[in-house]
Amino acid sequence: MSVAPVPTVTLDDRFARELGELAVAWQAASVPDPKLLVLNEPLATELGLAPDWLRSPEGARFLVGNLVPGGATPVAQAYSGHQFGGFVPRLGDGRALLLGEVVTADGRRLDLHLKGSGRTPFARGGDGLAAVGPMLREYVISEAMHALGIPTTRSLAVVATGRGVRRETVLPGAVLARVASSHLRVGSFQYAAATGDTGLLRRLADHAITRHHPGAADAPHRYLALFEAVIAAQSSLVARWMLAGFVHGVMNTDNMTISGETIDYGPCAFLDAFDPATVFSSIDAGGRYAYSNQPLAAEWNLARLAETLLPLFAEDEEQSIALAMEALGRFRERYAAAWSAGMRAKLGLPDDVDDAEATSLVEELLALLQANHVDYTSFFRGLGSAARGDAEAVRGLVLDLAAVDGWLRRWRAFAPDGRAMDRVNPVYIPRNHLVEEALSAAVGGDLGPLGRLVDAVTAPFDERPGLERYAAPAPEDFGGYVTFCGT
Ligand code: AMP
Ligand code: MG
Repeated sequence: MSVAPVPTVTLDDRFARELGELAVAWQAASVPDPKLLVLNEPLATELGLAPDWLRSPEGARFLVGNLVPGGATPVAQAYSGHQFGGFVPRLGDGRALLLGEVVTADGRRLDLHLKGSGRTPFARGGDGLAAVGPMLREYVISEAMHALGIPTTRSLAVVATGRGVRRETVLPGAVLARVASSHLRVGSFQYAAATGDTGLLRRLADHAITRHHPGAADAPHRYLALFEAVIAAQSSLVARWMLAGFVHGVMNTDNMTISGETIDYGPCAFLDAFDPATVFSSIDAGGRYAYSNQPLAAEWNLARLAETLLPLFAEDEEQSIALAMEALGRFRERYAAAWSAGMRAKLGLPDDVDDAEATSLVEELLALLQANHVDYTSFFRGLGSAARGDAEAVRGLVLDLAAVDGWLRRWRAFAPDGRAMDRVNPVYIPRNHLVEEALSAAVGGDLGPLGRLVDAVTAPFDERPGLERYAAPAPEDFGGYVTFCGT
């Protein structure tokens, strides 16, 4: 482990300074032979990190935490979490490190964080490591989400460690370098609250306000305003997931941010055929985090956040609870408003179509998609052409032609705007069969398919010749897709 000046970056340690009780200074495990697999050059540039330098041997050591810039204090963060409903008081970064915070040229403070960087005091029984496949998976899916306009942590790079990671078999190891507006989670508040130290809780809340929800600072009830801001951010985020057909897969409270960014891509995946009950994760046997349960899961997590904040809402506990309940009660209407507005955009409906009409149109469509096992992304994208007069693409996806023709007639009467629809209905998403194909090639040493997939999904709305297979639904024999946690 060497400490050397890094020419291009300063890493601040505001989190560690302000919230030392939630940070354990720690070092990444040594990686003798790091090899860069993928680098996000535009993101590197945004951070003020020279891509050429990151591609150098020094840069690779920086990206696995072995070259620490002078003045930086890498830490493992402490947090708690409800995992599938059960409270675990001490989770924390078991295999991750916050290297520090980068302040961009335009003044944004961003966490630079490593995953797979070795055991920490929070590792419990885990080995602290990560495999190439899951880290590349996070890279592809988080960058696709960003390109879709969905708030998310970003992926800067994946570096192979050259070391084996023992899972069911021995897999090649990797470290993911990721960037987030912060790594504050609902679980961070649960941890602070569980210490019983209200001063710490208040400092954490103030840190979150400064960093993410500065509007709350001037509100008469600043902590209630913080809670309301998190409700607003999360209701909008989950509505976007639902509109995109995204299933997070492990919405534990330690995997829900205060900023409203999607975080911790483990067993996540996008819907192929539309089915509200879809679950991909091998460990979610009960379907707690099924596609259609995501809004409820988010609301449940926000109730857990409210519990931690009660001592800050008011002196009197009864009054605190009343304030929390009232605020939480607005989650559903906010979520419904965000989702309905998004669906109207997906269907290209003009503003003068009334809500009842739009709702019935959407409900009829979703029932039709479900009954006919229709590919969700392809259908909505195809509707853009249907709005312009060519409905063959969407008709080709539906078995019950009488039903789809009836629906199309009803919908076309509203004169939907096909061009506007093409700006919100992606043509390329990280389809499960393509992700699997790209990851297995990468693990076998061929990064070509991964690069092509990243190119397709990071410009998701621009249809390009030659990329037809990236727009096509999964082959018939690709059913029952199962994902595994990012271990
Ligand atoms: P996750 O399911 O990835 O959100 O992780 C839940 C908790 O398990 C977090 O505290 C992680 O740091 C920890 N964890 C997951 N995998 C490992 C691992 N291989 N080694 C150590 N800790 C891990
Ligand atoms: Mg996590």
